[in-house]
Amino acid sequence: SSIGSESDDEDASRLNTRDHVQRNSRGFADFRVKRISQHQFGRREIDLVEQEMGGLMTLRKKAAADQPLAGARILVCIHINAQTAVFIETLAQLGATLRCCSCNIYSTQNEATEADIPIFAWRGESDEDFWWCIEQCIETESWSANLILDDGGDATNRMSKQFPALFRQLRGIVEESIPGVHRLYQMCSREPGAPSLLPCPAINLCDSVVKPRFDTYYMAREGIIDGLKRTTDVMLAGKTVCVCGYGYVGKGCSQALRQMGCIVFVTEVDPVCALQACMAGFPVVKLDDIIKKVDILVTCTGNKNVVTMRHFERMKSGCILCNMGHSNTEIDMSALQDKRLTWERVRSTVDHIIFPDGRRIILLAEGRLINMSCISFSSMVVSVTSCTEDVYLLPKKMASLHLPTLGAQLTELNDDQARYLGVNKAGPFKPHNYKY
Ligand code: NAD
Repeated sequence: SSIGSESDDEDASRLNTRDHVQRNSRGFADFRVKRISQHQFGRREIDLVEQEMGGLMTLRKKAAADQPLAGARILVCIHINAQTAVFIETLAQLGATLRCCSCNIYSTQNEATEADIPIFAWRGESDEDFWWCIEQCIETESWSANLILDDGGDATNRMSKQFPALFRQLRGIVEESIPGVHRLYQMCSREPGAPSLLPCPAINLCDSVVKPRFDTYYMAREGIIDGLKRTTDVMLAGKTVCVCGYGYVGKGCSQALRQMGCIVFVTEVDPVCALQACMAGFPVVKLDDIIKKVDILVTCTGNKNVVTMRHFERMKSGCILCNMGHSNTEIDMSALQDKRLTWERVRSTVDHIIFPDGRRIILLAEGRLINMSCISFSSMVVSVTSCTEDVYLLPKKMASLHLPTLGAQLTELNDDQARYLGVNKAGPFKPHNYKY
């Protein structure tokens, strides 16, 4: 269901979701979602993923009585699907009031959007809808956000520009993405002496111990295969793949693709990451030198214009082009609007781009990050990351909430061993700056 279909697209053009007021079974109407009639399927999906999200469910039970989030009014702008529904419902059960919208126009899982929480999100929003949905979550007559939970920085950016008075009253921001964190740093460190434009503390989730190692690495490792298979039904074994960027996402993708029998090349700008790729057995090459051979090209740099017309022009016919980075900047999409090229829609997240000589590139999700648009989420990974987003308990400890789900038995230090290592028996077991 998360891939969407042509019928989704047709419905989207017939119905204007923004103007379509619907009510749930309890008469609640403060939301805009695709089809409220799908809610039973959505609820079943949520029930299903709750079983994999042991950490969050444990947190609900442990903290529900304390209501640690009472008074929190959270503008939530993240991917909206069954897994994040569990997260959103957890925040509500811990006392927060929320208004939620999607951080990506393609990633919403329509049937998982029904709740008594105001949600403004549907798959295939236009850009205008996207910003409208965010604005519905900033303030209403009786509610205004005092916290933002953001993935990509769009909600933060919109609030700071269009609602400056409300923005100044914020109590905190949690940002999940690298580009969003980058913008937050830009807001607080301007020219020397200039006041920070950031009115409140912000939590940089990307630098938490857990996020890159679980969400980023494992999500990429599982997601890349799922995304390629679901969209193109491609046989991966024996394919020549180039992965641009060997950070956490690139490492996950490269490893998964090699496991499937692909011949994987890597491009990097950072010598440390390049060396890591070499030591893991991936040849580090320049994209220009390899492009003619590549069957599948995956970008994961978080950068812009990594793949440009210079590369498109030399690609093999049938080359699959996709992006695992946050936004849609890595593939030069404006170059692909060239009048000489013909676009043919194959599936809702697959386009053929045909060159005058008949060669075609298979572009996934219009250059937006493929795993959020074209695959199901890994519930366990979302659970691990969501627990990190809570400042109520320490992130490293939160990892232990998930161990029972995996049947893991932790060894306990005895007094003598703890003294010998110079640590507390209950942890932390590593210095603050330890690189896991
Ligand atoms: P990272 O910073 O660890 O890695 C990016 C790597 O790309 C770096 O090593 C950098 O040196 C390299 N790079 C930059 N420009 C390059 C270029 N022109 N050519 C080759 N290499 C280049 O970041 P990350 O955690 O791996 O995340 C990468 C992107 O993926 C970000 O946009 C991030 O927001 C996004 N992300 C995606 C997912 C997902 O599930 N798809 C999950 C988390 C993050």
